[in-house]
Amino acid sequence: MSPVARAYTPHKFRYFFDKVVDASLDVLNWLKEHHNLLWVRSKFSTEIKCDYINNNLAKSWNAWIKEHKDLPIYCLANAIREKTLTLFAKRRKIANALSPGILPTVIHQVNAGSRGLGHLKVTKGHLEEAEVTEIYKDEEVRRHVVYLPQHVYTCREWQLTGKPCSHALVVITTLRQPNMDQYVDMYYSVKKFQVAYHGIIPSITDRGQWPEVDKGFKLFPPVMKKTRPPRRQKKKGILL
Ligand SMILES: [Zn+2]
Repeated sequence: MSPVARAYTPHKFRYFFDKVVDASLDVLNWLKEHHNLLWVRSKFSTEIKCDYINNNLAKSWNAWIKEHKDLPIYCLANAIREKTLTLFAKRRKIANALSPGILPTVIHQVNAGSRGLGHLKVTKGHLEEAEVTEIYKDEEVRRHVVYLPQHVYTCREWQLTGKPCSHALVVITTLRQPNMDQYVDMYYSVKKFQVAYHGIIPSITDRGQWPEVDKGFKLFPPVMKKTRPPRRQKKKGILL
């Protein structure tokens, strides 16, 4: 299932998915019932520049608020507000100290990816267009085409992630003094990072000083079931 989810092209997706279905037909009904949402990269929109297919985000969020999870709701909300407020301020400080262009971490990542590409053969008939062939054990395995100005590579990784993949990088590195900034999507720019943390979360006083509001009803604590066993409840993460 993992290669099915990770494939970037519909072609590759189909190849692996057929293998899964061959192994068990039941998988079709199971997927229909339990995984009705989009979970394969090859079907993601290329506009969003995100190829995220795991739940690490929910996991790290839960780890981030772990110590506050058992608090009453208003304390929990306040703790999350405080954490977010501090985080925004910290990121805003970093953002303002960066020089314009693409985020240094992303440039670093792309530069690191442009090394060790000896298994890729570039055939260039045009300045900004080329064929890239993957070679394994002296055999040509796969060939794709890259169109530099359009940020398009037929393996689709570049379009989906917004960052040039190894195939695109091997072509970019054939250029004279390539400017990596122009091959990475604007989503990874310092400007977008600044905009993301631009909003200031307003400071608020403690609960004792909040305005009184008439809710129109009285809220009682939940009725506890007498049959509940007296053991500690399992900690559950907050689902995103
Ligand atoms: Zn590629």
